[in-house]
Amino acid sequence: MKPFHIFNSLTRAVEPFMPLDTSPTPTATFYSCGPTVYLPQHLGNMRAYVFVDTLRRALEFNGYTVRHVMNITDVGHMTSDEDAGEDKIEKTARAEGKSPLEVANFYIAQFKRDCAALNIALPIDAVPDAVAHPPQSALCRATDNIPAMIGVIEQIAAHGYAYTTPSGVYFDVEKWRGPSGMGRLSRQSLSEQHAGQRLEHSADKRSPHDFALWVLNQPHHMMQWDFPGIGRGYPGWHIECSAMSMRYLGETIDIHSGGLDHIPVHHENEIAQSESATGHQFVRYFVHNAFLTGMAGAKISKSAGRFPVLDDLVEEKIHPLAFRLLCLGAKYRSELAFSIDAVRAAEKNLNYLNEFVRCLQPRVIANAHDAAWAGAYEERFHEAMNNDLNTPQALAVALELVAAAYRQNDHRIWHTLRIFDMVLGLDLEGRIKEIAKGVFPPRINRLMTEREKARAAKDFKRSDELRAEIELSGYEVKDTKAGMVVMPKRVAP
Ligand SMILES: [Zn+2]
Repeated sequence: MKPFHIFNSLTRAVEPFMPLDTSPTPTATFYSCGPTVYLPQHLGNMRAYVFVDTLRRALEFNGYTVRHVMNITDVGHMTSDEDAGEDKIEKTARAEGKSPLEVANFYIAQFKRDCAALNIALPIDAVPDAVAHPPQSALCRATDNIPAMIGVIEQIAAHGYAYTTPSGVYFDVEKWRGPSGMGRLSRQSLSEQHAGQRLEHSADKRSPHDFALWVLNQPHHMMQWDFPGIGRGYPGWHIECSAMSMRYLGETIDIHSGGLDHIPVHHENEIAQSESATGHQFVRYFVHNAFLTGMAGAKISKSAGRFPVLDDLVEEKIHPLAFRLLCLGAKYRSELAFSIDAVRAAEKNLNYLNEFVRCLQPRVIANAHDAAWAGAYEERFHEAMNNDLNTPQALAVALELVAAAYRQNDHRIWHTLRIFDMVLGLDLEGRIKEIAKGVFPPRINRLMTEREKARAAKDFKRSDELRAEIELSGYEVKDTKAGMVVMPKRVAP
């Protein structure tokens, strides 16, 4: 196995990835903070899920079996992010006159649809009431995991890091970290972490930094559950990730992903909760993606105050995968500036790849081996992906491979390109399926068959006539080592 390197926010260094499982066919456990389902996911959110999907694909490319869990926050994420304000789902529910479940279901469906359009493979839906929970991949909802959360809160309390007041069960941050303790992940003191945030210092919290594990006595809250011995209420936002990660993947996991904004509070709190409950390390590699910028000024936004969503691109007749390619064109740890022009530029590269694949002949595809020269590109691609997920570099290698195929008039690179695409996720395989269905009009198909017969019979005069006829219909004809290649007249990359 080639070493896969990834930037670990815990050590702030690019490190070789070494999973807990040291068997020859290792499994990697991967937890991703998922969507809060009260609004459509904007393109900045979707960039994070493209990153998550690419990381999972890269791990699989390297031979790991990935157990991937993503949560869906359908309760407990408050409008201030700081356990204060209204529940985000319930706020939308009241505004739209729906139940919280209806709101969540609606936006989950939309999220899944957008993921599918971006070729993001989500884990399968968790079975809510399954009794046995061996480690597995799952897309799981917070509201299906309340007993697991209660279990973790009880463990934290048993170790002395939680206390109960009339307003809820709180995590005792200062006891865990000490009065001036630095956060392991953010390397910030508590006051630095919460700088700029208006902390609600409810009278019964020991410190303004303490956060809610379980909220009590909020009769207006629609979603409530019984916490035996504590009382009726609902969980805080952070506890759901600790509980679901442990429930599905075990007490220590290999990789945990999220946005950079999760570092100071959400992930610090997850570490505190999980490690105080179990007494050992929660996550071995924390990975964080940077933001998509420039969205506020994006003209595409139909109404002020809303970030662009995937539907906006579709309305502009831009293929959703152009957005995926835009994301791949930047390193996940760098900010990426969004603009319609940038997505359109990415779409040109997408079209360039699509056109190449669409015009491959069945015999090139059926050929078991690619041209020997393609091997060097695969080496470079693998190296780029394993170097902290250097997708811009990997994408450049894929484009260079196609350009080289055109230059050398040797199109025997499908298998190499297909391997690249298993990581890049641009659905080039979909173009191959179109070939199987026959993308050429019947007349062109007939001319192609006739020309192949003429060439086989060494009737070059007839072959040239047929070439001219095909070209007149807007196609290019090339005779390559792998046979005749016909493609629509292509746009320069
Ligand atoms: Zn989370």
